[in-house]
Amino acid sequence: MAKIHLIKPYGFCSGLKRALYWIKNCEKKYSQIFLLGELLHNPMVIKDLKEKGIKIIKEKEIDFLNNLKEEKDKTVVVIRTHGVSKEILKKIQNFGINIINTICGYIKKSCLIAENLKKEGYWVVIVGDWGHPEVKTIKSFAEEKGIIYKKNLNLKNNQKIGVISQTTLDETTYKEAIINIINNFQPKELRIFNTLCPEVIERQKKVKEIAKKVDLMVIVGGKNSANTKRLKEIAEREGCESFWVTSLKELPSLKTLSKKFAKIGIASGTSTPESFVDLVVKNLKKGGN
Ligand code: SF4
Repeated sequence: MAKIHLIKPYGFCSGLKRALYWIKNCEKKYSQIFLLGELLHNPMVIKDLKEKGIKIIKEKEIDFLNNLKEEKDKTVVVIRTHGVSKEILKKIQNFGINIINTICGYIKKSCLIAENLKKEGYWVVIVGDWGHPEVKTIKSFAEEKGIIYKKNLNLKNNQKIGVISQTTLDETTYKEAIINIINNFQPKELRIFNTLCPEVIERQKKVKEIAKKVDLMVIVGGKNSANTKRLKEIAEREGCESFWVTSLKELPSLKTLSKKFAKIGIASGTSTPESFVDLVVKNLKKGGN
């Protein structure tokens, strides 16, 4: 049987644990809970929340909250760890409805940096995934000075530039982006902020180290999770084959994998529940279902 190396820590990051704690509190206090966007990129956890009656709403749907009338007192809107743009937050605040903002402290810090840079006349370049809710939140704090990074940025030379990363980016990608900005835009002034999440970086470093020692890296987590995707990329960059598991239904094929590979690493994203990682390990140890 293949030797299993479980990469620790695993389970939810501190930001998600805190958000889930607040949602649990809301369950006791409010009869209606609306979650603005998916709390995390993990279908199992989202399914659990929906089964508890928590309704996930999109930003474009929020206007109905203003028409709730007397129900407003018993209703709460939960802002997820990725936060929400300044404009949307203001709009919900104006509805006079209860709000629990679970934006993660690391992301809040990035928002404050973006806001200050903008005030000081810097262009704020955010290195991260286009369309990711966290990136959109940070960009809203930089207002018209916010730019999402791409290789061919539309920036003139001799500008004041501040650079911020999405919290779940990896160090290599961030450094490459910074070098590109220095080489191609000759900034008048450049301020670089380390806004990478230390909890994510710790997992990435462990994956990099273990990927050198195992034949296969099993990545456990939602396919839409940016930090889980990054772990897969890091393992592959180290020349390690990877297999991405998102649900228990996919586990039978792992029986075959454990026959083919002598050493298997297990890595998981910060939005993957500890219990699911334990189940994957259990199944791998017995050679699949
Ligand atoms: S991954 Fe890091 S930045 Fe994102 S919610 Fe968790 S603790 Fe916060």
